[in-house]
Amino acid sequence: MKIVHTVSEIEKELSTAKKEGLQIGFVPTMGALHEGHLSLIKKSIEDNDFTVVSIFVNPTQFNDKNDFDKYPRNVEQDAKLLERTGVDIVFAPTEREIYPEPDTRQFDFGKLDKVMEGKFRPGHFNGVAQVVSRLFGIVEPDKAYFGEKDFQQLAIIRNMTKQLNLPVQIIGMPILREASGLAMSSRNERLTAEQRNIASKIYESLKESAVSFQKRTVQETADQIVANINKERYLKVEYMEIVDGNTLQPINDWKETDYAVGCIAVFCGDVRLIDNITYFCR
Ligand code: AMP
Repeated sequence: MKIVHTVSEIEKELSTAKKEGLQIGFVPTMGALHEGHLSLIKKSIEDNDFTVVSIFVNPTQFNDKNDFDKYPRNVEQDAKLLERTGVDIVFAPTEREIYPEPDTRQFDFGKLDKVMEGKFRPGHFNGVAQVVSRLFGIVEPDKAYFGEKDFQQLAIIRNMTKQLNLPVQIIGMPILREASGLAMSSRNERLTAEQRNIASKIYESLKESAVSFQKRTVQETADQIVANINKERYLKVEYMEIVDGNTLQPINDWKETDYAVGCIAVFCGDVRLIDNITYFCR
């Protein structure tokens, strides 16, 4: 495994791999790696001849400076974790390498980024699209792997790839959870032991709602989840939306869709967590 920090270094490494006709898998991350990231990386190693993992905390996707400043960073520990996986290249660039000049591109995602994360984190998905398109341009992967934990992000990436006509296959991977059910996230590192324990109520409430959703309306289902979570110490729901899994538009009736997904963002203290659950996908 090689760790490289510049675009010219990674391009050199990749040109050898490409000359050999190797199929390239790519997993973009912001580091502070956990088993969730590793599941994507393992799948890439399984599917491809050559796997690149990037570690870059992208400033343009943070609408909250405090969140950016406090985002956990530990490239050395990440590299140690990756050492045993079979990754070929870790690309850990500086901000200047990715943005030699400010990226002023504005993407149009129609209605996709007007809801949920897009609504509550203005500019977030534009920043995600900037960095991922830039990374795709550098790595030129055959396949790229993204987690369904960031459900809306996955839809945005698929849309961007189509818009830009990029020859990369986007693979979505299931959410990995801690034993408590809490979705694994780099941000969990910022929770106290007590908060981490309480944060497991998020998935517990989502799961509970999926057992009897047919007996309730969409609104009642969402309201019940919000009430269950908000009664817990430290937890405050920012949004809970039940949406069509393809268009991401909110539904009012279960009959409106073949694919219903509940998406939630919750503050646990000052740490913002997201999760989602699929009610059905016919
Ligand atoms: P991040 O470092 O948070 O930008 O995440 C990098 C990639 O890992 C994204 O595609 C995430 O959706 C994915 N990911 C993060 N957490 C999980 C998880 N718990 N299970 C599966 N994939 C995840």
